[in-house]
Amino acid sequence: MRMQQKLISEINKLAREIGRGVNLMEVCGTHTQAISRNGIRQILPENINLITGPGCPVCVSSQKDIDAIVSLALAGIPVATYGDVLRVAGRFGSLDDAREKGARVFGVYDVVEALALQKKYPNLVFFGLGFDTTTPMTAWAIKKGLMVYSSHKIFIPAMQALLDLGEVNIDGFIDPGHVSAIIGSKPYEILGVAQVITGFEAQDILEGILMLLAQIKDGRKEVENQYQRVVKKEGNRKARNLIFEVFEISDGNWRGFGKIPGSGLEIKKEFSHFDAKVKYKNILDKVDFSLSKEPLGCRCGEVVRGLILPKKCPMFGKKCTPENPIGPCMVSLEGACHNFFSSKN
Ligand code: SF4
Repeated sequence: MRMQQKLISEINKLAREIGRGVNLMEVCGTHTQAISRNGIRQILPENINLITGPGCPVCVSSQKDIDAIVSLALAGIPVATYGDVLRVAGRFGSLDDAREKGARVFGVYDVVEALALQKKYPNLVFFGLGFDTTTPMTAWAIKKGLMVYSSHKIFIPAMQALLDLGEVNIDGFIDPGHVSAIIGSKPYEILGVAQVITGFEAQDILEGILMLLAQIKDGRKEVENQYQRVVKKEGNRKARNLIFEVFEISDGNWRGFGKIPGSGLEIKKEFSHFDAKVKYKNILDKVDFSLSKEPLGCRCGEVVRGLILPKKCPMFGKKCTPENPIGPCMVSLEGACHNFFSSKN
């Protein structure tokens, strides 16, 4: 606690010395949770704004992918995915809604559970989503014979897209600890902005913020690593090799952004017999994805681009709550709306 107080007083000192508004963006759902849980936003000086970015994989899943996987479930294909995803609603409802209509839909903790389910349901499809952290596990499971609908994404292009869009002035990124454990620190260098790879304890996050403020004060634009106990400069080469053995890079479809070049991962031709988009093309071809639209009035797309805080959405805490979520930012435990609502910040 004494260490945290010292960090807060150093943050205050640097914030005074910088003397202007500073926008720091966290781009990891686990950071979103940790910042809310520890009340970090409230203890920062007024001129330091913590903005939430597109770090929650469920929140950035495209409406098209949600409609596609619900269509497969409604067509009688057994579907398994992470529990958070089941409540994300699309044009045909959510996977939970499909289950109520009799579809075989299963919430799983990981791909090992999905592989076990596949023994009972041989045509089971796993809806795979997430960033560089979860993709190696999906790649491993595909090699073991799991049929997958891939909504996996690569993270750095989304950070680049945020900078290119220029809608929010981002002075620095709190880089994601888990993603960095796989990709290492080098890929962030192309972004040319102050960044600190940061861990998930309150003290880690305060240290990361302090390191960012020191860079901003000095006019440095470096990639620093606060989370050295886990993240190595070279990352995890074995996990990266596994990803690119099974997946190839495509243009990923992100809620709030649309297509981001080079940010998606599709299953390679060699593994196409485990690609649900190939195997069930006949079902998916019948779906008119031009009608896949985000829920009416939901501003999740602006939330993940850091344009608004959840409270700016007129439905926040009224029509949209964790019990009755309208958009994925309220569904997911890592979503900004969910965390702002739960921590009342
Ligand atoms: Fe969408 Fe609900 Fe968040 Fe509003 S509060 S942006 S409706 S998820």
